[in-house]
Amino acid sequence: MDHFPLFANLRAERCLVVGGGHVAERKVRALLEAGAQVIVNAPGVTDGIRQLAVSGAVQVVATDFDPVLVDDVLLVVAATSDAAVNASVAAAARTARRLCNVVDDGPASSFIMPAVVDRSPVIIAISTGGAAPVLARRLRQTLEALLPERLGALARWADGWRGRLKTRLPDITTRRRAWEALLDGDAAAAVLAGNESAADAAAERIGTDSSLVATRGHAWLVGAGPGDPGLISVRGLEALRRADVVLHDRLVAPELLRAARREAEVVCVGKTGRGAATPQAEINALLVAHVRAGRRVCRLKGGDPLIFGRGGEEAQALAAAGLAFEIVPGITAASGCGAAAGIPLTHRGLATAVSFVTAQAAPGHPHPDFSAYAAPGHTLVVYMGGAEVASVAATLLRHGRDAGTPVALIANGTRADERRLFTTLGGLGARASELAGLSPVLLIVGETVALAAELAPASLEPFALAAASQGQGEWRVTDGTAPPAMGTPH
Ligand code: SAH
Repeated sequence: MDHFPLFANLRAERCLVVGGGHVAERKVRALLEAGAQVIVNAPGVTDGIRQLAVSGAVQVVATDFDPVLVDDVLLVVAATSDAAVNASVAAAARTARRLCNVVDDGPASSFIMPAVVDRSPVIIAISTGGAAPVLARRLRQTLEALLPERLGALARWADGWRGRLKTRLPDITTRRRAWEALLDGDAAAAVLAGNESAADAAAERIGTDSSLVATRGHAWLVGAGPGDPGLISVRGLEALRRADVVLHDRLVAPELLRAARREAEVVCVGKTGRGAATPQAEINALLVAHVRAGRRVCRLKGGDPLIFGRGGEEAQALAAAGLAFEIVPGITAASGCGAAAGIPLTHRGLATAVSFVTAQAAPGHPHPDFSAYAAPGHTLVVYMGGAEVASVAATLLRHGRDAGTPVALIANGTRADERRLFTTLGGLGARASELAGLSPVLLIVGETVALAAELAPASLEPFALAAASQGQGEWRVTDGTAPPAMGTPH
């Protein structure tokens, strides 16, 4: 952060504007809006400033810049069109340790004036640190259009109830939820529509009967999607924003976790491959304990919670304890990786079915039988297959799947460090070692994989898929440089 944002109370504070032109006049008016006492130092001033002086709103010192004036003010704005004068204003301010803004000169300024959306008492200040003033203005326009005209009235209404609700609902969690209910619901809508008495009635009801505020715990089992933080659902994001506790998998993008409330307890309960992590029974128990204690828990899981995510087991634990929960689906790795790589999982004439299969069996259960997926025209997506790629390929070949069937191995799909390897079922065994260390990895087997040559979003990763002559008709990614390295462990 190059600048620390703060909102200054300038009411009755003396502020100096050096310069008397139109730019200076704009700064003078902005400072007056905030209730400052403005002194303008310039040998000549605009008519506007002169009128302000006549009405007594500002004091004009009609001389060249006088450094003595700096000593007696809280902040200084250098707004002359003469760079040398602006520089001496900045130097005087620095010596006197006053905050100083030099118009249109970020590096010379010790504070900058943001673009402002004013719905007082709600004020939104936007800064690009001087990097792109036009962008700041565009953002201001966007926010102006987005925010209700009467937002300020809503804030004032809330202020009017703050003290009363604090006394009536002393428990902080109950109070926060009451506020959320009022601000998310009909009460806020009523204030924004100009009907404050309806809003008062709602606040009165909630304030006298706190059972109207659900203090029951609740869990959301949310699919976070395959990796790209943009691939969570709107409802999933909302759950994440509202949660008191977030229990997340290791596969969940760190950017997503920033959407959680600042006070939320965020806990990683993830597993690394087959490595040790919080055992499932413990996750279930944790989930149940938090919800029982009245907390709102977002259990954030990679991909979809109900596809190899053990979300079903967590839901069973909650159901058995009689607790409230909702399952929010996510984009599973097969869909995410397929879309990113340009591989349709089904395609008319090429694949009429798709199967999601895990290469890992639960302890005590038979190893998955891949022979069922050996027929052509069937896309097979293998999850958790990093270590089993060669044996999966061998099984499929043994059961008669064509050695020339295209396959894709996708590591870290939809993330910045995504790696893709295209080959054939026959060529896969020889290249399995290239996978060492990469995780998570998804294997897609089937005729539709060949469509990636046509459908891979070129704007994201331009490459051409070409049938190479090596091996048994090997497919390889070429991106103009070299085939992507699959062997680099992270
Ligand atoms: N519930 C998740 C799957 C969890 S099992 C989902 O619906 O996607 C973990 C396995 O998912 C990994 O071993 C890998 O096979 C696959 N996987 C998850 N995210 C992936 C990604 N971004 N790229 C490649 N494979 C991924």
